[in-house]
Amino acid sequence: MAAISLKNVVKRYGIGPKANQVIHGVNAEIGDGEFIVIVGPSGCGKSTLLRMVAGLEEVSDGEISIGGRVVNDVEPSERDIAMVFQNYALYPHMSVFDNMAYGLKIAKVPVADIKTRVDKAAKILELGALLQRKPRELSGGQRQRVAMGRAIVRQPQVFLFDEPLSNLDAKLRGQTRLEIRKLHAELGVTSLFVTHDQVEAMTLAQRMIVMNAGHMEQIGTPEEVYARPATTFVASFIGSPPMNLLTGRAQGTRFAFGGVDLPLPAAAPRDGELILGVRPEHLGHASIAHDGGWPLAIEMVEMLGAERLVHGRIADHGFTLRIDGTLVPPAPGSTLHLQPSADHLHWFDAATGKRVVA
Ligand code: ADP
Repeated sequence: MAAISLKNVVKRYGIGPKANQVIHGVNAEIGDGEFIVIVGPSGCGKSTLLRMVAGLEEVSDGEISIGGRVVNDVEPSERDIAMVFQNYALYPHMSVFDNMAYGLKIAKVPVADIKTRVDKAAKILELGALLQRKPRELSGGQRQRVAMGRAIVRQPQVFLFDEPLSNLDAKLRGQTRLEIRKLHAELGVTSLFVTHDQVEAMTLAQRMIVMNAGHMEQIGTPEEVYARPATTFVASFIGSPPMNLLTGRAQGTRFAFGGVDLPLPAAAPRDGELILGVRPEHLGHASIAHDGGWPLAIEMVEMLGAERLVHGRIADHGFTLRIDGTLVPPAPGSTLHLQPSADHLHWFDAATGKRVVA
């Protein structure tokens, strides 16, 4: 096991004035045994960052260390890492056992050791009964577990996962997510896990790195990132439906936007152009008053089972609430009056999108 350190890591494709910079100075200290998820939309640079740690892409600037050793110029095979991809690429003609054992055979590990390691991995992954099967006789989830087994038997210092669950259906993704968590609890190997799925990130991460257009927007525990998003990008990327964001002018306990003047439960952190954020789930029935407050014109209600999403408009801006599914929903065409609590307001600078700390 090993800590990973990223110091001002930059990636450019191409050289000279035509170079395309896709990673803009990422800094992160990842603890020994930590499970870190790198999350962000497609094209934000997640895989590039992971591939630089793996040694599959050169680092253009900055430094990557694994276990205290700078690895910028170290071959992938010398980095003591194991990677699990979306495409698990098992050898179709080999049994599960042989697929897991193959890398160790190539590395000339003694046969008895190979058997011990494969049996142990198979036990952890509940593949013991399937060792003699061929990949075609397995479900998608089982094949992905074999791919993980192949990584485990190598006993690496670091696991790198590149969207390993993307090929699985929703139910299997959920199950495999739990298996990966159990696996990490058992083995405690430092892990970097890339996904574009914020739910996967929230449920798997001990800490998560949120990326946007090659920049690290925030690093923190899922709780921190959800409760105190550092930017409007993070606020709208993490959480579903996303945080409601209203751009307007704050003055004391008033916030003017789109021709309406909303009362605030506490003074804004500063006067002037600001973005006010409120999560849909923080405006439940408890904060709905008969008059006063923020007027929300109801347009549509969606039933999701345990909860309902209430979509409407405040002035000309779309706004969503999430309410308990057992409560009587408001009728489309009616107006609700919202009274948010001061604890649940988020403030961002309108120019930079950065969180304004009161
Ligand atoms: P993600 O994994 O977040 O979807 P990537 O790391 O794959 O994003 O890509 C980040 C950016 O780098 C994208 O804009 C992509 O087009 C660009 N990119 C990736 N690989 C190359 C390459 N070999 N040459 C040039 N640009 C690349």
